Amino acid sequence: MLDISALSQLLNQPRKIVITTHHKPDGDAMGSSLGLYNYLIQQGHHAKVVSPTDYPEFLWWMPGNEEVIIYTEQKEQAAQLVAEAELIFCLDFNTLTRINELGELVRQSSAVKVMIDHHLEPEDFDDYRYWNINACATAQLVYSFITDELKRPDLINADVATCLYTGIMTDSGSFRFPNTTASVHRIVAGLIEAGAVNWRIHELVYSSSSENRLRFLGHCLTNKLEVLPEFNTAIISVTHRELEQFDIITGDTEGIVNYALSITGIRLAAFIVERPDRVKLSLRSKGEFPANEICKKYFSGGGHRNAAGGHSEESLPQVIDKLKHILPEYKTLLVQ
Ligand code: 5GP
Ligand code: MN
Repeated sequence: MLDISALSQLLNQPRKIVITTHHKPDGDAMGSSLGLYNYLIQQGHHAKVVSPTDYPEFLWWMPGNEEVIIYTEQKEQAAQLVAEAELIFCLDFNTLTRINELGELVRQSSAVKVMIDHHLEPEDFDDYRYWNINACATAQLVYSFITDELKRPDLINADVATCLYTGIMTDSGSFRFPNTTASVHRIVAGLIEAGAVNWRIHELVYSSSSENRLRFLGHCLTNKLEVLPEFNTAIISVTHRELEQFDIITGDTEGIVNYALSITGIRLAAFIVERPDRVKLSLRSKGEFPANEICKKYFSGGGHRNAAGGHSEESLPQVIDKLKHILPEYKTLLVQ
């Protein structure tokens, strides 16, 4: 493991740097990556964000987005960038399986690997780790990495601030989850002072639904929501055919699970979707209920206590059935 002075020293001259983040990046994954990118380019580094896959259109407006390389679309270029990198920053994930094929390329690379993350149970592949599970977002950690560790608060310009604000806003559920502490609000105030236009960012991320997405949401709530009052659980499941019928694209399903969780008394909500290659689950919970434990134990996944995900090779009906059969095991936590 490197210490911060060795890492700072490495960053004292222009380096070839790759910043990567998890499969199907969300607002925090892209916000923290592009925030760090906009910081590094000010110091003359040759930095590139390499995403394992595509990501939602409501994130495409972020400063630096036009420079992002998507591995699945530009494999050769991405592989070359990773092979030639002197440093690789791994943001918002901590096991290499979360970046698919890129994982092996990163593992094999001789670059110095820096992990900045807030998920449980990190894998040991990094040379420097800035990790805190109490952080509400990786973007919060990138902020304190720049200001407290690298001691360059002067380089939090409007572009950096805009990206980091987006990461904190999206991962904290718009500043409402329990880990949105007073110190997070102080950081956010600093980001607004540095040039993040908060109302505009909210508009760009949350008021940019396509008509299809809104109609699909209506379909999910009217026809696909199943409430299990005896377990305070609500499940929304959708087939691949339904995704096609509504022309659903990456990002359109994001946040739908939160509507199920918003029903009074519901402590666990699931959104289960049949993708072409596998069934994907998103779980959200309230209070002490460990959504990540279910994902890890039964659905090859993980995440945070109140927001976790996983997947399965089984069919959609089998996955729904499996989840329903797990619920009695958790009844005392669900019904209090
Ligand atoms: P989402 O439901 O939005 O896909 O994911 C919610 C949370 O669970 C995110 O913090 C994400 O990092 C985590 N997560 C989602 N899918 C997986 C997975 O397959 N493995 C692990 N370890 N975490 C996941
Ligand atoms: Mn995150």
